Amino acid sequence: MAAAQSDRDPPSALCAEFLNFSAKDTASRWLAAANLQQEVYAHLAVYVPRILCLGPSGSISSREEQREELACQLLLLAPLEWLLLGEEPATGLALLQEKNQPSPLCGHVFKVGEPTYSCRECAADPTCVLCMQCFLGSVHKDHRYRMTTSGGGGFCDCGDAEAWKKGPYCQKHTPTETRDTEEDPVAQLPPDLVARGYSIFSIILKYAVDMLTWEQDDQLPAGLEPPEKGDTYYCMLFNDEVHTYEQVIYTLQKAVNCSQKEAVSFATTVDRDGRKSVRYGDFQFCEQAKSVIVRNTSRQSKPLRVEVMHSSVVAHQCFALKALSWLGQVIQYSDGLRRILCQVGLQAAAEAENSSLVDQLMLNDSKMWKGARNIYHQLLMNSLLMDLKYKKIFAIQFAKNYRRLQTDFMEDDHERVVSVTSLSVQLFTVPTMSYERLQCDYVRDDHDREFSITDLSVQIFTVPSLARMLMVEENLMKTIIKTFVDHLRHRDLQGRFQFDRYTAQQAFKFGRVQSLIGDLKYVLISRPSEWSDQLRIKFLEGFEAFLELLKCMQGMDPVVRQVGQHIEMEPEWEAAFTLQMKLTHIISMIQEWCSTDERVLIEAYRKCLSALSHCHSSLPDGEQPISLSLAGHCVETFRYQVSQDKVSIHLPVCRLLAGLHVLLSRTEVASRFPEQLPLGELSPPLLIELPLRCLVLCAQVHAGMWRRNGFSLINQIYYYHNVKCRVEMFDKDVIMLQVGASMMDPNHFLMIVLSRFELFHIFSSADCRKRYREANKDVVQQNNTLIEEMLHLIIMVVGERYVSGVGQVEAFDEVRREILHQLSIRPMAHSELVKALPENGNKETGLERVIDSVASFKKPGVTGRGLYELRPEWNKHFNLYFHHYSRADQSKAEEAQRKLRRQNGEDTALPPPLPPPLCPLFGSLVNLLQCDVLLAVEGAVLQWAVEPSGGGWTESMLQRVLHLVGVALLEEHQQLENSSGDDDVTFNYTCKITRPGEASTSGSVLALLESLQNAPHLEVHKDIITWILKMVTNIKTMRERTSSASTVTISQGQGPEETVRDKDKAERKRKAEMARLRREKIMAQMSEMQKHFINENKELFQQSLEELEASTSAAAEHSPLSSDPSCVSQVCVGPRRVGGAERRQLVTCILCQEEQEVRGHGRAMVLAAFVQRSTVLSKNRRRNLPDQEHHDPLFMHPDLSLGIHTASCGHIMHATCWQRYFEAVQLKEQRRQQRLRGHTSYDVENGEFLCPLCECLSNTVIPLLPHTHSPDRSVDHPNLEAWLKTTNQQLAVLHFAHKKQSDGVAEGAEPAVPEGFRVDFTPQNPFSSSVSEMITTFSMSTYKVGLKVNPNEQDHRVPVLIWSTCAYTIQSIERLLMDEEKPLFGSLPCRQDDCLSSLTRFSSSCWTAAPVTTTHTHFIRLLAALVPDSQVENTPCILDIDVFHLLVYTVLSYNSIHSLDQSGRSGVDSAHLHLLHLVTVAHLVQVLLTSTTEEVCMDQDSLATEEEELTCQLYNTLRKHLGSVLPEVTSGWQLYHCVKVGVLPFLRAAALFFHYLNSTAPPADLLVAGPGQWEALCSYLSLPSNLLQLYQSQHTLLEPLIHRWCCHPGVRQNLQGGGVIVRFPRESNRLIELPEDYSVLINQASSFTCPRSGGDKSRAPTLCLVCGSMLCSQSYCCQTEVDGEDVGACTAHTFTCGAGLGLFLRVRESQVLFIAGKTKGCFYPPPYLDDYGETDQGLKRGNPLHLCAERYRKIERLWRQHGIAEVIGHAQEANQTLVAIDWQHL
Ligand SMILES: [Zn+2]
Ligand SMILES: [Zn+2]
Ligand SMILES: [Zn+2]
Ligand SMILES: [Zn+2]
Ligand SMILES: [Zn+2]
Ligand SMILES: [Zn+2]
Ligand SMILES: [Zn+2]
Repeated sequence: MAAAQSDRDPPSALCAEFLNFSAKDTASRWLAAANLQQEVYAHLAVYVPRILCLGPSGSISSREEQREELACQLLLLAPLEWLLLGEEPATGLALLQEKNQPSPLCGHVFKVGEPTYSCRECAADPTCVLCMQCFLGSVHKDHRYRMTTSGGGGFCDCGDAEAWKKGPYCQKHTPTETRDTEEDPVAQLPPDLVARGYSIFSIILKYAVDMLTWEQDDQLPAGLEPPEKGDTYYCMLFNDEVHTYEQVIYTLQKAVNCSQKEAVSFATTVDRDGRKSVRYGDFQFCEQAKSVIVRNTSRQSKPLRVEVMHSSVVAHQCFALKALSWLGQVIQYSDGLRRILCQVGLQAAAEAENSSLVDQLMLNDSKMWKGARNIYHQLLMNSLLMDLKYKKIFAIQFAKNYRRLQTDFMEDDHERVVSVTSLSVQLFTVPTMSYERLQCDYVRDDHDREFSITDLSVQIFTVPSLARMLMVEENLMKTIIKTFVDHLRHRDLQGRFQFDRYTAQQAFKFGRVQSLIGDLKYVLISRPSEWSDQLRIKFLEGFEAFLELLKCMQGMDPVVRQVGQHIEMEPEWEAAFTLQMKLTHIISMIQEWCSTDERVLIEAYRKCLSALSHCHSSLPDGEQPISLSLAGHCVETFRYQVSQDKVSIHLPVCRLLAGLHVLLSRTEVASRFPEQLPLGELSPPLLIELPLRCLVLCAQVHAGMWRRNGFSLINQIYYYHNVKCRVEMFDKDVIMLQVGASMMDPNHFLMIVLSRFELFHIFSSADCRKRYREANKDVVQQNNTLIEEMLHLIIMVVGERYVSGVGQVEAFDEVRREILHQLSIRPMAHSELVKALPENGNKETGLERVIDSVASFKKPGVTGRGLYELRPEWNKHFNLYFHHYSRADQSKAEEAQRKLRRQNGEDTALPPPLPPPLCPLFGSLVNLLQCDVLLAVEGAVLQWAVEPSGGGWTESMLQRVLHLVGVALLEEHQQLENSSGDDDVTFNYTCKITRPGEASTSGSVLALLESLQNAPHLEVHKDIITWILKMVTNIKTMRERTSSASTVTISQGQGPEETVRDKDKAERKRKAEMARLRREKIMAQMSEMQKHFINENKELFQQSLEELEASTSAAAEHSPLSSDPSCVSQVCVGPRRVGGAERRQLVTCILCQEEQEVRGHGRAMVLAAFVQRSTVLSKNRRRNLPDQEHHDPLFMHPDLSLGIHTASCGHIMHATCWQRYFEAVQLKEQRRQQRLRGHTSYDVENGEFLCPLCECLSNTVIPLLPHTHSPDRSVDHPNLEAWLKTTNQQLAVLHFAHKKQSDGVAEGAEPAVPEGFRVDFTPQNPFSSSVSEMITTFSMSTYKVGLKVNPNEQDHRVPVLIWSTCAYTIQSIERLLMDEEKPLFGSLPCRQDDCLSSLTRFSSSCWTAAPVTTTHTHFIRLLAALVPDSQVENTPCILDIDVFHLLVYTVLSYNSIHSLDQSGRSGVDSAHLHLLHLVTVAHLVQVLLTSTTEEVCMDQDSLATEEEELTCQLYNTLRKHLGSVLPEVTSGWQLYHCVKVGVLPFLRAAALFFHYLNSTAPPADLLVAGPGQWEALCSYLSLPSNLLQLYQSQHTLLEPLIHRWCCHPGVRQNLQGGGVIVRFPRESNRLIELPEDYSVLINQASSFTCPRSGGDKSRAPTLCLVCGSMLCSQSYCCQTEVDGEDVGACTAHTFTCGAGLGLFLRVRESQVLFIAGKTKGCFYPPPYLDDYGETDQGLKRGNPLHLCAERYRKIERLWRQHGIAEVIGHAQEANQTLVAIDWQHL
């Protein structure tokens, strides 16, 4: 007893009190006390420091933790529960629970990484989400939904009727009508409980709040000071986002003298909880650690925060957290208690503002550490946010505190997730709420009179939404925007934002500030359906604040063209664009709000206009305007040049006005209330000025005029057009030009445009034009580009009408047009289309509504993805000058469309599509098309094209002009069609183009066109010109028809002449077209046939390609398949075998192209090969890896837990050529390593290289050896008995000799030496030195890889490993062929065939490189396993041996014995056959011993066959030896079936082995899969087809052997359950089953916790696809040391599960990860696809994902074929330039 006592901890001082303490008594004492708080505090003051935090917390044991937990519950919490309930807590709580009305809200709080679902059809906004359980029970699972993984925090919105347009309740949360939800739950509780609840909750909550916000390290609040205060302190370390893990770990090791491991654990906890004590002791001791930490971390940045805190303070804080959790648990039992807690929390002191406990918590949020915040946020979610009524009250408090919270948050350096401000998503997005109800609640609420409801004035109750209420009451919109503007303090002199000299710290703050925009978005996310005057006022106030913000952005980051010198420093531009991008949705939402109310829209328009004029005030005035005149028109404009003056891309005020202007048109406000609009104040030239400058800037950048301004400008231009920004940038600028042009004289508009493009002079006078043509080439080219850009701009201004409000279209048409033009480039995947479309605030593009009407879906194959293809009927809507095309898109689309038209046999003209009609407000835009200035421009360009010699024009210029002409003609045509008479068509373009040009000496535009039609240099444009002329004729005819009555005679003269000419032309054209079509059809047919052929014969084709390659190697080798076709019964083993040795092998070196015969004495030829460890066939992944130094590999266990696989690409080289090549690779690698770090795809140090021909990963070479000799038919074939006798004699002699050699003496008599057997004979090495050297090379590679040891040529295990890789490779290939149902022979690709044959022949000769006695010893030991030998010890039992390995080893090692036999009497072939027979019998026994025991009842009408009888006989013999260990089986049929199936893989592997060993052609039956295999196999192996005869015929000889096998103690032990029993046939390994629905995996992973850091969530849960283990990847917590290096969980797992190779699924990323060794890895597409046939790597899109079985099988096949390492090699080779990933850390 005494001894045991000392082992235990000293008895706790508390023990006595522990036992005497009564919670019940304490509670009743408290109840009687006058001042409850005082009593409770006194209790806590005494007990808390004595229970919690009693020592260093780093080494706290779980027992210690349990003790703490228990003491807390018994001494601290239990009295509180007694006090609250007035009875035994368990009973009391159960009673409460009975009456509990659970919240209708699900409120499930999301863990990090948990899947969340949002319905794209029914969710009020994308922040409304469901948990998995609710989702599966909801109607939305059949809708279009989005799936994402939660970042943690936030909760399930199930049950919140306001979050869902439809189906707000899942099955579980559908409200039951048991109690009126309006009723006050507190009224359901007994009054005394209510009273006690109030007092206890307020005491405890106040205690917790005080403690968590407590800032003194050494003092405690009044009443909590401990009775005795020792000198015990903690050194507390806090986290920040400035220091890295590495810095913290390093510092801690120094400061507190801990191990690396402890430091990592400290750092992990600090990161997770926000603080952690790193030292415990007296004040001095802790202070010392603190100073070291501060000193060490203050060098680069501000030091880590460290505080030395008294242990009692830490203890109370610790208990405060426990108390909060306790509150959270207690209120789960009763909604009444929950309501009470809400009231207590929000109860404010009479006069002070923000004095409630919740306020205090919120306002001190940024001061608390992460762990504390998490716990109180959790409590807020469980209490206030679960109570519909208090959610609102809390929201108001929250909005009130908003500004201060945000300010604190800005200064705080924690992530937003843990900040209380992240709650805004829960609060601001509640769209509708009956405030009447809210009001009622207040009125009826009689529990707390003091509760401050005075804040809520009457007005707010008329507003129907919480967000709206906050907007009106708390002016939330304005508050947010003001807070935002205040926090962006960097301004220039004009008050605009200026972000240059942008430091990292500022960037961090700026990131913070952006979260405000998110809140603004929540506020605006749902548009009001009804407006109150208050809402209008507040919204407009907010709008005004927003305009102030935009004004600060207008003109940001101006640029000036750099001439001469290149800019010195790239100016900052990203911040401004980030801001623009973030605001894009806000701007769109504000416009949407405006569009719902006329009064708001008009007011907003006014405000915006006045803001704009404010901005315009800075435009240069006072300067002399310049006057321009052209084509008889005159206009005045600014003196301004983009190429010389400042210009800015940021014009948000202009653009907002453009947006509002379109709304005026769309809502028809403009036509209904023209008098209310300040349209008179608009100055169109001013409106267009800034957007035009911006567009000219883009044109000049394209023209190369801004090259010296560097990349920042290029980037800005890129984003200006990019889909993320263009809606509120480029698009709006075009609209503003349309606005201006529709209000101006079109001639004036165009002249200003010409002037801004700095092209006016070129078109205004012929002189200039001439001079311009003669100017230097660069200028000409520049101007040409500018003219093209200008023409394009005009096309856009008149042609871009797909904006609702500009043209008469709907949003639907807009999206459809975008898609149509994307698909005109090429067929695209869903995600590509989504990326090309702008998203709205709800992340929707509208794609799904439209896509099926324009495109058809093509499903993906095993690779690639599903594609959408444009339906042909939409081709006619293609517009070459679609404004969202980049130049590259445009030319690709043009090419694709022309090709398509040619294929369809149409002409290649790409005329403009019919534009939709304009809205009235924009109606006058069409006049641009027929105005004089444009006609002059068109005339000029056409004129240049007629005289092409000048070089001052381009084809694209012409093409654009033709397009403009086409648009004008379409316009006229359409107007004519829609008109009733000729009179009301004011548009008369055809008439105008027949007038001769004014300035030019030449004819009219029409005449110019006609003369261009047949110009030989304009062949490309011929079709479009023809189209134009036809249009002109059509229009003329139409006009004539309408006016035919009066002008019949005029047209008659021309008519017939024209038609004859037309007819002629048409006929010629038709013929030419027919001829072309015929040609094309033939071509297409041919290519189709070819394609078809290739597809049909893919396998063949691939093989023939490979063969083509291999033909270099195997040119002269006759195919073994074709030899000896006449021989009916081919035999591959034994004296009757047919050899192939006479064939000469001629091969060609891929490096020097020289031909060479394979000979043992010749120059060595080698085959590039890759040797790797493999666990693909393993039946036991739990087996520990063998100890490298002492592992004896001679007997392979049948679980095949670790094998060595060899593969080759089949490419042959001279050994010397290869050596030179490899040396060069090594040298290159050395040089490379000096230059860069990181890894290549291959590891030269480990001998890896890439095949010089096919770049296949290799790490060694196999020497090619000649065929084995044909059997010597002169020697006779001894029977088994005779052979065994001779062999036994030979072995005995050898044994004796070995003994004598090692011990010096040998006991006993020397055994008789068989005739001709010479022990001391040294066989001559049959190989040249060069071949021998290569034999050693390959031997060492296998040895090195197989055992992971350094090369050692003397090691006796060297030959064993070579035999092992030979056997294992054959076995794995046999499995593959079997599972893929391919024939055993003839279906392997050449390279595998070559590899196996070289490998086998090599294995049979490799013993020549090892000492002879080594091989002899091996053979002796191997044979002893079959034929027990008293001299050999430690022979494994028959169930512990893989017999195929045994066969290969014995056959290959026998050669060395045979070499000593000089008698010439027995052949090596007879020995092989006998060995095969013996091993086969052993296998039969093995199969029978392990055959399944359940007996299947089968009708056995027919008599037992001979096979069945013999099987039963053998089985009974076994039972005789083993007794009851073997079950009784009566069904011979069943047994025989087992045997046949079990033995087959062995026979197939043996056939492959002997085929390659002896080069014997396989029989025809084995070249096809299917029946008849068994007999063919047996005869090929020279076995009776009734295998049992093997045993039967040698009964007397074999019976004792079987007896010995069975009597091995291992057999009995094995069968009685001493380990994994391997049954035959071994089932092939597959990758684990994956669920069909990806979210199941996500869910699994989200509940997975890191196995090392106490129940923590893992950041990167990763699934092993081989064994199904879930791992905590890419994290410090789960790093493991492997060979002296820390590696991540995945890499570590590969060493136990896959011998260094692994396949994983990274669940959060939806990515497959391949890892090989420590340095190599790659990502691979996952087998999960969405409905559009695409993977979602990174899980960014959120479409539901489903398993694609074919793709998964493909990955599996890759693994089973041992192809993973090669895939990794190729991937790394392809991505060398990318940043190297440290794969070992995953
Ligand atoms: Zn839920
Ligand atoms: Zn639910
Ligand atoms: Zn739905
Ligand atoms: Zn060569
Ligand atoms: Zn190769
Ligand atoms: Zn695994
Ligand atoms: Zn972990």
